[in-house]
Amino acid sequence: MNADLTNASLTYRLAGKRVYVAGHRGMVGSAVVRRLQRDGVEVMTSSRDKVDLRDSAAVGAFLKSAKPDVVVVAAAKVGGILANDTYPADFLYENLMIEANLIHGSFVSGAEKLLFLGSSCIYPKVSPQPIPEDALLTGPLEPTNEWYAIAKIAGIKLCQAYRKQHGADFISAMPSNLYGPNDYFDPEKSHVIPALLRRFHEAEQRGDREVVCWGTGTPRREFLYVDDLADACVFLLENYSGYDHINVGTGSDITIAELSETVKRVTGFSGAIRWDHSKPDGTMLKRMDTARLASLGWKSSTSFEDGLAKAYRWYLENPVRGGEVPAAAQH
Ligand code: GDP
Repeated sequence: MNADLTNASLTYRLAGKRVYVAGHRGMVGSAVVRRLQRDGVEVMTSSRDKVDLRDSAAVGAFLKSAKPDVVVVAAAKVGGILANDTYPADFLYENLMIEANLIHGSFVSGAEKLLFLGSSCIYPKVSPQPIPEDALLTGPLEPTNEWYAIAKIAGIKLCQAYRKQHGADFISAMPSNLYGPNDYFDPEKSHVIPALLRRFHEAEQRGDREVVCWGTGTPRREFLYVDDLADACVFLLENYSGYDHINVGTGSDITIAELSETVKRVTGFSGAIRWDHSKPDGTMLKRMDTARLASLGWKSSTSFEDGLAKAYRWYLENPVRGGEVPAAAQH
């Protein structure tokens, strides 16, 4: 743990501040916007056509004129296990550019506070379970998503560097596997929850006798409902100011086989589940140690069944968005 974590708690009020949420169309960004607007906080966003977040000059100019008090970096190029493995250059380059532009630009434009969002894939493939924040950079990464992970680690380090060199109040939060409204529902390229909700739903509609799921079903994952993450973001912005990144999760995990059974139940599919062992399992265990966040005073509130039912309802009500290309959900 870094020394200044001991002085890490503070009270910073978002009321009356102007908050720029980068990535407002994505699952995380849209949840943060919903949450801030509910609290009556002034939210700023930038449209993809006007500000390409991969373009330093465009981001710098936008931040200089918009001058937000607070910046939430929820923009990223994201995707599931196969997308990461297939498009390594896109995942590394685009994420490095987006976060470097936003973090540096926020510093130059005088933002008081910045929250950078990453993911639990930053941790080594073999980590203590549950994974504590201190496991960062203690071993090799899971190869299927190392491109995204390296970019996210660089983002954490950028926040730490600006804090160390310039005293900037830039913090980072690492959520576990997220799901919820505005997720990207693609059978091939998305993460497991949207992929399975869609696959099981379509199989049920067609009256198929079986659904194929990837891998062995034995890996365990911790799933966090995205509105809970948004709540944690507000909590951290208002109550945390430290060098170290903070894990955000539920503290419990389930196997992919258990997940598949739950998706089967929620979607009403009555056929069988077959496991395709030619597809990668990825890392076997990924539950995060959320003791630090708990000690600051936050815990998640949405049960997995409730969250999954809400995500499924959202998918049923938004079939067009469910089929969009992933890039549209980014920034
Ligand atoms: P990860 O947590 O970075 O590995 O991301 P994913 O959400 O893509 O995958 C989680 C786990 O679910 C892995 O073990 C996958 O093999 C498994 N899985 C089972 N079926 C699917 C599927 O249809 N799509 C995806 N993305 N993963 C699946």
